[in-house]
Amino acid sequence: MSVFVEREKCVGCGGCTEVCPGNLLFLREGKAQIRDVRDCWGCTACVKECPKNAIFYYLAADLGGAGGRLYAEDTPSTLNWVMKWPDGSEERILVDKKKANEY
Ligand code: SF4
Ligand code: SF4
Repeated sequence: MSVFVEREKCVGCGGCTEVCPGNLLFLREGKAQIRDVRDCWGCTACVKECPKNAIFYYLAADLGGAGGRLYAEDTPSTLNWVMKWPDGSEERILVDKKKANEY
């Protein structure tokens, strides 16, 4: 499992580079890049932080198999987790930010 940066979506805001607990992400030529995907332990902090949905997380085989991906859409009131499955379908989990501690 690892994260992947879609360079065409990245606007180089640097948000992901500031939240990675392993300091794995950095900017090169205005785009985020991961140093070594093998060092990523999948905390998803960078996925949640990205305002452009430019980072997604590969889902493990038991969660969707090769090609499955997870990204987050941040809104003022909710954090929406979007799972894109290999067949093109998607599922969404909406987290109410005001009730986040209750989950
Ligand atoms: S998922 Fe976590 S460990 Fe992996 S690159 Fe993103 S912030 Fe760093
Ligand atoms: S948070 Fe998203 S848009 Fe900002 S640098 Fe990282 S990948 Fe690019």
